[in-house]
Amino acid sequence: MAPRRSTRSIVALFVLAAIGVVAARVVLGSADPPAVALTGPIAATGEISREESAFASTAAAAPTRQTRSRWSLADPTTAMIPNGDSVVAAGGMQRSIALTFDDGPSDYTRPVLDALARYNVHATFFVIGKNARAYPATLHAVADAGHELANHTWSHTVLLQLPPGARRDEMLTTSDAIDGQGLGPATLVRPPYGTTDAATNQLARSLGLVPVVWSIDTRDWTGLTAEKIAANVLAGVKPGSIVLLHDGGGDRSATVAALDLIIPALKKRHYRFATVSALLNASPPSSDQLAIGR
Ligand SMILES: [Zn+2]
Repeated sequence: MAPRRSTRSIVALFVLAAIGVVAARVVLGSADPPAVALTGPIAATGEISREESAFASTAAAAPTRQTRSRWSLADPTTAMIPNGDSVVAAGGMQRSIALTFDDGPSDYTRPVLDALARYNVHATFFVIGKNARAYPATLHAVADAGHELANHTWSHTVLLQLPPGARRDEMLTTSDAIDGQGLGPATLVRPPYGTTDAATNQLARSLGLVPVVWSIDTRDWTGLTAEKIAANVLAGVKPGSIVLLHDGGGDRSATVAALDLIIPALKKRHYRFATVSALLNASPPSSDQLAIGR
């Protein structure tokens, strides 16, 4: 009986080892970002998109986290931004501006990416945490194209209506949604509606996030035509401008169309385009380009 038992034990060990190898391959293999472009419903409504399943498989694989973001602010830049303030615009020492897109990812994010790619322009996407979670493949597509991912809170609630612990959670969970996909850490946060105060800005800084608002509101969120959205940019732009646009939160087809008007017109005026962190690193804000919020 004894030899038979040990034979059985050896066979069982081989079977367990084989299962282990297969399991490891499954886990390692699923660590890759979803290769297929998936689309889903507007996630801000709380619906779960088809990308959710892709997120589940990547989340289970415990993706490698980067210790230093590709979007880090340089120490001298951070030192120029007082704790408690938000950035409104960059210094403008160079003829660069930053296009920013809020409230995504959504079904309009990929058309925005296509437009930016047509002109080889990089931008910054302030993502809502729950949308980032619902659209993981789109989130990867944004980062893979060289754009900056930044934090726009988890649920897009006015932070000042929340107790401090919930404000902290709104920001931390969103950073985790980006970081958990191996795409972080984000270094910038935009408070929803630009509504914030010094204490909330200080809280953001304690979480490693520099608050950023905007100097040009295109008002694309009010249902303007592409022509009017473009006119709002071209009327107010100057070196160092941070431009507020939206790739989520509603029908953004006019915003997508406006990019074909805005970008060529600005290039004609010899403007260059940078992510917000690159813009700030090249030319930190002066005191008149800082404020509590908007
Ligand atoms: Zn927003």
